[in-house]
Amino acid sequence: MSDVLVRGIAADGAVLACAAIATDATEEARRRHGTLPTATAALGRALVAAAMLGSTLKERQTVMIRVLGDGPLGPMISESTADGALRGYVTNPRTDLPPTSARKLDVGGAVGQRGTFHVTRDVGLRDPYQGSVPLVSGEIGEDLAAYLSCSEQVPSVVAVGVLVGPTERVLASGGLMLQVMPGAPPSIPAYLEERARLLPAVTQMVNGGAGADEMLRAALGRLPVSVLEHRAVRFACRCSAQKVVGVIATLGRQEAERLLREEGRVEVQCRFCGEQYVFDAERVAAVFAPAAPEAAEA
Ligand SMILES: [Zn+2]
Repeated sequence: MSDVLVRGIAADGAVLACAAIATDATEEARRRHGTLPTATAALGRALVAAAMLGSTLKERQTVMIRVLGDGPLGPMISESTADGALRGYVTNPRTDLPPTSARKLDVGGAVGQRGTFHVTRDVGLRDPYQGSVPLVSGEIGEDLAAYLSCSEQVPSVVAVGVLVGPTERVLASGGLMLQVMPGAPPSIPAYLEERARLLPAVTQMVNGGAGADEMLRAALGRLPVSVLEHRAVRFACRCSAQKVVGVIATLGRQEAERLLREEGRVEVQCRFCGEQYVFDAERVAAVFAPAAPEAAEA
C-alpha cells in the first residue's frame, strides 16, 4: 500500500474529512534519522498530522508543526508541502521509553505533557499564519484536535498512529481528521465522536490493509461522503548541494578555511532529512571564487 492521502466532504458540506497512510514516509524518516521506536512513533504521528493539515494547501504553500514539549524527545518539527512532500525531525532520535500500561509506545511520555503545539501555515502572504495551543497529552492526535478546535475554531476529531515492528521497522502509519464546519447540525460532532470510539485503531486498519478511502468511510459511518481528491505523499526534503553553497557562503571564507584546516573538509548536515553534504578544499574554493567572466557577461 503506497502512501496516499484522501480528502472528502461529508454530510452536505458539514464535515471535511481526510485520511492518510504514510507508512513508507515514516519508515524513510526512521531510516534517515536512526530513530528508536518511541521516537519513530512520535515523528511518524507528526508527519501524518502535517500531511493532513496540509491536505488543502495550494501550489507552493507549506504547513509546519512544531511540538515543543518538556519530555526527553526534545523539540519535534514536521512539515508538508502542497504536493505531499513530508519531512521532519526530532531533537533526540534515540529516545525510547518503556511501553504504557496499555502496551502502547509512550509518545506522550517522550514528548512531555507540558509545552506547546505550534502550527505555521505559509500560504504565500508576507506573514505566515501562526497559531498555537498548550499540549493536551503530547500524543499528537489530541494535540492537533485541540489546536483545530481552539486556535482555528473548527471542532475536530483526530486519530494518528504508528505501529513499529519487532525489528524497529515501521509496519503502519496513518491518520484520520474530521473537521466539523460552522453551521453543521449539532448532532454531527456527537455522532463522529461515537464513531471514533467504535473504530479500530488507525494502525490496525492500515496494518490490516485498509485503503485511505476505506478508512475515511469507516470514520464517517452513515454520513454520505464525496471524495474530492487523492494525493500521493512521501518523505522528501528540499535541501540540495546548491543550498549548502549558500550556507557555506554565509559562514564566510575565514570560518570555512578554518574548518578545512582543522577537519580537512566542511560538512553540513540537513536537520530535516539527515543528508550529509561534504565540501573539500576545491569545492569550498569554488564557493568563494569570483564568478567566471563568461557568466558575468551572460
Ligand atoms: Zn534535507
